[in-house]
Amino acid sequence: MQNWTVNEIYHGFRLERRETVAETDSEALLFRHEKNGARLLALINDDDNKVFGIGFRTPPLDSTGAAHIVEHCVLSGSRRYKTKEPFMDMLKGSLQTFLNAMTFPDKTIYPVASRNTKDFYNLMDLYLDAVFYPAIYDEPKIFQQEGWHYEVVPINPSEQEMDQDESRLTLSGVVYNEMKGVYSDPSSVLLAETMAGLYPDTAYGFESGGHPAVIPDLTEEAFLAFHRHYYHPSNSYLFIYGDVDLADRLSYIDAEYLSNFEALEVESELKVQAPFVKPQKRTAAYSLPSGDDPTGKHYASWSVCVEPNLPMLEQMRLELLCDVLFENAASRIRERILKEGLAEDVVSFAESLYQSFFGVGMINASAAGVAAFDEIVVGELTQIAKEGVDRKQLEAALNRLEFSLRECEGATTRGVRYFIQSLETWLYDQDPLAALRFNEPIHQLREELVGDAYEKALRKYFIDNPHRLVVDCYPEIGLNEKKETALMERLEAHRRTLTDEEFADLIAQQKVFKEWQQTPDSKEDLATIPKLSLSDVDRDILKFDSVGTQLAGRPVITVPMFTGGTVYAEICFGLNSLSLTELTDARLYTALLTNLATEKYSYQDLESEIYLQSGGISVGVNQYNKLDTEDPHLYMVVGIKALVDQWPKSVALLQEILETTRFDDLDRIKEELVRLRARYELQISSAGHVYAMQRSQAYLLPGGVVSDALSGLAFYDQLCSYLNRWDDVGSTLAKRLAKLGERLINRHDMFIGLTAASEDLPTIIQQLEPLVKSWPIQSYEQRLEVAPLGIRNEGFGTASQVQYVAQTFDFADAGIEYDGSMHVAASLLSLDYMHNQVRAQGGAYGAGLIVSDLGYISSYSYRDPHLERTLSIYGEAGNYLSQLAKEIDQQTLEVAIIGSMSKFNPPLTAQKTGRLALRMYISGKGKEYFVTYMNQALATTSEDLARFGQILQEGFGNQKAFSVIGNQNLINESSIFDNKFSVHAQGLKVLS
Ligand SMILES: [Zn+2]
Repeated sequence: MQNWTVNEIYHGFRLERRETVAETDSEALLFRHEKNGARLLALINDDDNKVFGIGFRTPPLDSTGAAHIVEHCVLSGSRRYKTKEPFMDMLKGSLQTFLNAMTFPDKTIYPVASRNTKDFYNLMDLYLDAVFYPAIYDEPKIFQQEGWHYEVVPINPSEQEMDQDESRLTLSGVVYNEMKGVYSDPSSVLLAETMAGLYPDTAYGFESGGHPAVIPDLTEEAFLAFHRHYYHPSNSYLFIYGDVDLADRLSYIDAEYLSNFEALEVESELKVQAPFVKPQKRTAAYSLPSGDDPTGKHYASWSVCVEPNLPMLEQMRLELLCDVLFENAASRIRERILKEGLAEDVVSFAESLYQSFFGVGMINASAAGVAAFDEIVVGELTQIAKEGVDRKQLEAALNRLEFSLRECEGATTRGVRYFIQSLETWLYDQDPLAALRFNEPIHQLREELVGDAYEKALRKYFIDNPHRLVVDCYPEIGLNEKKETALMERLEAHRRTLTDEEFADLIAQQKVFKEWQQTPDSKEDLATIPKLSLSDVDRDILKFDSVGTQLAGRPVITVPMFTGGTVYAEICFGLNSLSLTELTDARLYTALLTNLATEKYSYQDLESEIYLQSGGISVGVNQYNKLDTEDPHLYMVVGIKALVDQWPKSVALLQEILETTRFDDLDRIKEELVRLRARYELQISSAGHVYAMQRSQAYLLPGGVVSDALSGLAFYDQLCSYLNRWDDVGSTLAKRLAKLGERLINRHDMFIGLTAASEDLPTIIQQLEPLVKSWPIQSYEQRLEVAPLGIRNEGFGTASQVQYVAQTFDFADAGIEYDGSMHVAASLLSLDYMHNQVRAQGGAYGAGLIVSDLGYISSYSYRDPHLERTLSIYGEAGNYLSQLAKEIDQQTLEVAIIGSMSKFNPPLTAQKTGRLALRMYISGKGKEYFVTYMNQALATTSEDLARFGQILQEGFGNQKAFSVIGNQNLINESSIFDNKFSVHAQGLKVLS
């Protein structure tokens, strides 16, 4: 590394500070651009997953979503990159490991990561050019497409010609539809209302993403003004991470971008919300479909807002308190609310902002629960402050926090996480390194377990804080329909004000707009997108070694590697001796384990014990597929992570949980299952594409049936059915689960995966041995036989205003062999055809196509305003591809090949490496397997594309085997379904 000296100027940047940040294992250099004051933080280390990011402070001025729409629009063409969507074009042929822009309540950030230097430089330039020189000033259609626009549609859809009296106006736009989807989710409404209530006078009270009702108020002028005002180097935060040639990058950024800008006084400071004189209440409605029972369906929050620029130490302390006091299994508040039947679930939240807020939420609460909320929370907190916060629970929460900060496992890309973390202080003119240095505050928080610092903070920020708010989001049957009708009336009124000429103009504009959308980019424009070549692809994939050994006669797959002193273990117990119904039981069993009492610990204490004695224990059911068979292989997987010197204690705790969990507390079991149901309900409406795909796979594949029964709509229905008849079935179910547990902990069909430093592995195995040896070996008949449900088309109605449309085709069944080139075709279709048709032109938030080596293809759309239209697009995908295959040139094909490489060479953390090694072992798919398919992908020809086009046309052309989750009215009115259901808290109800 170059000799960097503080106060020297390097390529226009003055180095202000240079320090080591041990927590991120890097050398931190903080710069300020001499000419315009742009800030730049570099964290230099030897991580090859390099990150670049640029962010702006963008507090919104209203809820029109200008920040979010600008975020979308700047990625739609710029000075150097001339295509309609350079971001997508680059994505098609990049080796990126992270590429996504994000809008927050007060900032907009553009981070990107890649392990390939050339790719990294390309992406960096794409983002810089996009934010500083976007095409939005020259091309108004970008705003219309991504933001919102009027669409003239014929009242009778079969009508081709537009006639003023025979047509109506609607609204469309990518962000508009995205936010309609967000606001279909009551938990999003609750969060927005909480912020609107806590910050009535500042930017935080607005919806930076845009409220669907307010987005159409955004004019093109205001949109451009937003960009002009905030997107200036003087208001920017640049970030560089990894093994990067920093001097080279500084010189580039300065020469190509920053030196072109003079300093500007950008007004972007966040205002202070004056504290309330007394606590406030707020109510808001959310929509339920007709036929739903609104009883016990309130969403409520209790929250407090604190002073600006809360020190890191206090921020972390309050986060710990939220965890312990509101969400922990031992939380008195949570327990009281659940026991008294006031709500189905209780969750805590903590948001780190210029002025942070903290609180607790109730999901599916009764009106009585909401009425008593403030009194319960304040009453219990007062009592706790008097008695003292439980030290064991605090210590456990502190361990958990420290573990997660250290291992960074959850983050896909370490550098991106550090960028976001540094902005927690940097964005508010504080030291960015303070947010990265967690060792000191953790240490102090540990020291202060003695004394009354926690109780003082509890009193100051929670109990005696008048800046407090209770929000009640109550259900209103048919609210969406009412809003829809009001919107239609408004649009109709607007239509009536249009003169014939104006209307004709609108239709003409629409024609031009559609033509623009449908016109492919010219060759010259496409040539502006930088491309990698096949020689840039790293063909040395899966660079880790796994070593097989034995323990008590069973296979152990170890991955010796650097893990920062952590052991990752996964113990897999075979489940193929269970029937399909018993598999659902096994899923319930795993959901309850770690949440019920054991011989030694109450369920309240168990959660703390887990984090005192390990880094976390997880239990679930995983599906694996072996080579040459479609049949699923099921395992209960017990995952445990711990520091090496914690390991013996963790093993003892694991034994306690696996062998002594008590299934005799029926009320507790019911409480946990009710929570599980509440979480499913939310997920089905917010991530419906996952459930719709699983369902469509169940029509054709045994594995699909299993996923549906384990975690899909069938599982949800079964769970609801148990809860509906709890008094009759509860105790039998509990007995069955207890018995099942005895049978599952069995050495017969068992494997273990271990990831740790090679010198630690022998001891780790040795310390695990007595436990494994104590388990019986008993073989059971393999009973799992599943048949696909058979081809169907099903619709599942929810309160959502948008759809998730999925379709599946089993090409193996049609005698076609899986081939690596299929991933290239799928990636081409997802990023090109599906993106253009379903997202850009259809207004959905996302769409894609996946190929499985099991021999099937599934397509999905995400937050989609359409339903039948999307299915016709899937139906035409094959023809499109066949046509494309005739025209495609070698370079475009190579781009698509490169873009599909992440499937074969994903970035891996230590834990993910261990999981992959285990999966490879169980499936029998070694490194050669993946290399073979990668080589097929690398050798993809246009004939391969044409062949896949035919397969797809055959599979999707006849529109069979699809499943749709979404707006109940739309599904009810449609005639394309064989079966229609409504998704209720009672389960799936047939719609007549
Ligand atoms: Zn968006």
